[in-house]
Amino acid sequence: MRVLVIEDDAMLGKALVQALEDADMSVDWVRDGRLGEEAVAVGGHGFVLLDIGLPGRSGLEILRSLRLAGDKRPILMITARDELDDRVAGLDLGADDYLVKPFEVKELLARMRAVLRRHGGQAVSILGTSEVELDLSSHEVTYRGHREVLPAREFALMQALLDRPGTILSRTQLEEKLYGWGEEVESNAVDVLIHYVRRKFDKDIIRNIRGAGWMVPK
Ligand code: CA
Repeated sequence: MRVLVIEDDAMLGKALVQALEDADMSVDWVRDGRLGEEAVAVGGHGFVLLDIGLPGRSGLEILRSLRLAGDKRPILMITARDELDDRVAGLDLGADDYLVKPFEVKELLARMRAVLRRHGGQAVSILGTSEVELDLSSHEVTYRGHREVLPAREFALMQALLDRPGTILSRTQLEEKLYGWGEEVESNAVDVLIHYVRRKFDKDIIRNIRGAGWMVPK
């Protein structure tokens, strides 16, 4: 999964990027509210970590304009201890959860999984359809009874496709969900990932819709 971190504190931002990358996520980090607003508008990130006190534009303003635009992406607010009113306002504006600084990375990752579960409408850390299941904490994928632990990028591909089963994602949409800004993306990168996943399971696990993209059936 690709995560956007909007946080002006250099030490915390750096620690967040490191922690998320260690958890096999692809991370983009901006330190200014205006840039943050532009970055969320471009899209592609499956999760946003949003600081409230930011230069340029506050986290609450970013959150408000995002939700007003109908964007329902998971957003977890990062707040200071004395920002209770802002936390309440953030939840009212449609943030999915918040963490108060300082916090443990373990807790952040668990909260993110919980938010993703709620988005998937599941009670446990699993996304899936009748045929495919993804375990968000162990990175295991099960297809028709066959189970494999997938490397980060292959798992991210399946997560993107299973976020909305039955929805076709184009090459560009998949690239946006899988790769950060600075990363060089080979023109056949998505095909290669799909090839690896199919080889581990079965070619039918991901359907190709000619000229449009790929999907996992509902
Ligand atoms: Ca701040």
